[in-house]
Amino acid sequence: MDNLHLLYLKAMGVTLYKVRSDDDSQQQQLSWVNLAHEVATCRACNLHCSRSNTVLGDGNQQAKLMIVGEAPGFYEDQQGKPFVGKAGQLLQAMLHSMALSREQVYITNILKCRPPDNRTPQDGEVKQCTPFLRQQINLVSPQFLLVLGSVAAHYLLNTKNSVSSLRGKVYSYENYAKLIVTYHPAYLLRNPQDKEKAYKDLQTLTTVMYS
Ligand code: SF4
Repeated sequence: MDNLHLLYLKAMGVTLYKVRSDDDSQQQQLSWVNLAHEVATCRACNLHCSRSNTVLGDGNQQAKLMIVGEAPGFYEDQQGKPFVGKAGQLLQAMLHSMALSREQVYITNILKCRPPDNRTPQDGEVKQCTPFLRQQINLVSPQFLLVLGSVAAHYLLNTKNSVSSLRGKVYSYENYAKLIVTYHPAYLLRNPQDKEKAYKDLQTLTTVMYS
């Protein structure tokens, strides 16, 4: 199908799903390798000065569910993997509550380098780094996005509203993925009284995924 036909179908609101051929898979692998290299050598913002490792993402690159958090912390920076500290253990428990394992989903963050002392990412850092996230979302092409915390929610939904006002609803990301916002596991560790609300959000997501 040529590009003109694709544009017509897109204008009509038709969503196309295509089976990945071997050529597509090879192209995908090449794109992932290029992306990993770009991130590993990136010096676009000052966070490159203090990082030990960049943290691109982890999990199934063809997952139906993609999870987007905020930024690497101490252990993530040390190991080059997202969500490996206490917040990672809680995320794992959250996934288990949906009968999912870490290997079945793709996990990443808004920023690929750790902000000093785990401070909140600055607007300039988010602006410089999020083209990498966009590439990841395009490559994984998930059907569902679980967005953890305000930094990721503000960027992906282009809003400044609080997580408590954004959670409990199902949003559309670029007209192809369903998106749900909940609290970041690091926030839940500090505010365990909100865990019940987060588990309700996960139930909503489970219902949406299997309906
Ligand atoms: Fe590059 Fe992102 Fe790391 Fe900044 S945080 S240096 S933009 S990879």
